[in-house]
Amino acid sequence: MSLLDRHRAVMPSWMPVYYGDDALEIVSGSGRRVTDASGRTYLDFFGGVLTTMIGYDVAEISDAVRRQVGTGVAHTSTLYLIRQQVELAEKIARISGIPDARVFFTNSGSEANESALLMATNVRRSHQILAIKNSYHGRTFATMAVTGHRSWSSSALSPLSVNWLASADRLRGRMAGLGDGDLIDAAVDDLREVLATVTAGDVAALIAEPIQGVGGFVHGPDGLLGAYQKVLAESGILLIADEVQTGWGRTGDHFWGYQAHGVTPDLITFAKGIGNGFALGGVVGSAAVMNAVPAISFSTFGGNPVSAAAGNAVLDYVLDHDLQGNARRMGSILMEGLRALSYDILADVRGRGLMIGLEFVRPGTTEPDPAATVRVFDLCREGGLLVGKGGLHGNVLRLGPALTLAEEEAREGLAILIDAIATADTEFRTF
Ligand code: PMP
Repeated sequence: MSLLDRHRAVMPSWMPVYYGDDALEIVSGSGRRVTDASGRTYLDFFGGVLTTMIGYDVAEISDAVRRQVGTGVAHTSTLYLIRQQVELAEKIARISGIPDARVFFTNSGSEANESALLMATNVRRSHQILAIKNSYHGRTFATMAVTGHRSWSSSALSPLSVNWLASADRLRGRMAGLGDGDLIDAAVDDLREVLATVTAGDVAALIAEPIQGVGGFVHGPDGLLGAYQKVLAESGILLIADEVQTGWGRTGDHFWGYQAHGVTPDLITFAKGIGNGFALGGVVGSAAVMNAVPAISFSTFGGNPVSAAAGNAVLDYVLDHDLQGNARRMGSILMEGLRALSYDILADVRGRGLMIGLEFVRPGTTEPDPAATVRVFDLCREGGLLVGKGGLHGNVLRLGPALTLAEEEAREGLAILIDAIATADTEFRTF
């Protein structure tokens, strides 16, 4: 199948696709490897944007899904009781860290954030939201409005009144070059200034990704969200942690990204990895916050038996195999290997656990170099490694392998990546 076939049949041509005219058609997968339609196998360091969280063809997940499908009922309606859904909600509520937690299931991260925004605006009786520049929260009307990444936002048509806080970009902008303490101080000053000047004083919530995903794995120092929350609490403003990319142990040191910040969010949203390929998302919050929505919340497919069966099996797998610990160990191998590199085009290696970003610039400057980034990206594929791209300027490569990554796979991927960077560096270096 070619890219042209897709253009003719599916959505307009602007729908993003990796590798352009040489787009990949993945037809099978096993462990951390996928095979394309031509029969070539790749080591996958992106998992379809951190979605195949525990790898391909995991027997425990396939069996759980097959068992459900084998009953003859993939789904009827959430108007009936669904055992797997309730069991999964109980488990997620227990590990969420939110007291008296309840879960509302959706099919995607966008719907999860949309629901969280609905809840927060209802609790606070305000449609004012704070969001972070360079963020990504989804493709629904409200979530686009709180997305501060120029390729993806459309806040001009927002149903919400959104004000923006600076992102923790240490390479350029107002946070450039700041150490941890200074960055937190600058971020808190920014928050206070925004609250005092451009909001009407009754803000509903701040929505934040603990590590910005689509934005290129930009993240502030530990404690940043805690420092924000101290200020927010003065006015009863809620904190929504978008854990769509950072949840379930991916960041290694913590199960949720927010835990690096000494905070308990009012609402947590999740999606992607918990379904390991099946459509599953949701919101966690205290009963009081969740019940504030006066209208009935309903989703035809949210928490359906197949997705919920997958979700239960994935969560059990993550916990039973200490995948958080594995993310920490494999993440350190990758991080150490990458931080030891010294190439003119590589300006920053950042992230936590198995969520690592590499930022490429024009040598000797902090000017983004998307061309060099694409070159490394393509060379990785040639070498048999799939990675992700991202960042506001398209100059960040993103690594988000499955949390089951083995040490030899980490080293294999690292070697391919280093070769690709070395080759691109000779091509893009200015002498
Ligand atoms: N939040 C974050 C942090 C995301 O990365 C994404 C997806 N890239 C979403 C929300 C939206 O999720 P979905 O595509 O499942 O709607």
